[in-house]
Amino acid sequence: MMLRFQEARFIRSANQLDGCPPDSGAEVAFAGRSNAGKSSALNAITGRRGLARTSKTPGLTQLLNFFDLGEDRRLVDLPGYGFARVPPAVQRHWEALMGQYFEHRRTLRGLVVIMDVRRPLMPFDEQMLVYAGAAGLPVHVLLTKADKLSRGAAAAAFRKTRQALDERVGLQLFSALDGRGVEEAREVVAAWLTPAQKSPGAS
Ligand code: GDP
Repeated sequence: MMLRFQEARFIRSANQLDGCPPDSGAEVAFAGRSNAGKSSALNAITGRRGLARTSKTPGLTQLLNFFDLGEDRRLVDLPGYGFARVPPAVQRHWEALMGQYFEHRRTLRGLVVIMDVRRPLMPFDEQMLVYAGAAGLPVHVLLTKADKLSRGAAAAAFRKTRQALDERVGLQLFSALDGRGVEEAREVVAAWLTPAQKSPGAS
């Protein structure tokens, strides 16, 4: 199966579960605090500059954004609220929607969490790890903006975060600016979106 990251195109936004595209095929979700670098990571991984808007207005209704990769494969950009900055009603709606999405979306294959390498594992990030854990979903963490740290400082941030995470959670350094780790991230996403080979003899 050929995944055409370069041909990724926006399909639709949803602010409730029944507004999502049909629950068939496979999709991988991306989450991150606002300003962590999620849009830049999505653009870098797909090779589509401007796919995910890099300038967003905080406080406006942000939704689940679905991008089609062909062959019924999708990337999903999850809204990343700064918790303090949105009205309580919007926050409650967001939490309810996230809970439903992780619990009920059968085609969700994995979660990529984007964290600023200088500030990993903030409360928002921990909450996303809890959602994924409750859903039994694989998680891969990108420590992005690695270009902003020296090699040594980036490696130290990696080690510290590695120790804090469950060993099943994937972790890597990433930079949308210098391209570090982009291929590695793309491979993780592609593997999640590719159906497992049936073992010989399996029906
Ligand atoms: P989002 O709110 O999580 O989608 O974050 P954006 O992708 O819009 O990025 C937020 C800010 O961080 C923007 O000013 C980006 O240019 C910057 N940024 C994102 N990724 C990187 C990176 O890898 N390196 C550097 N130096 N800056 C980045």
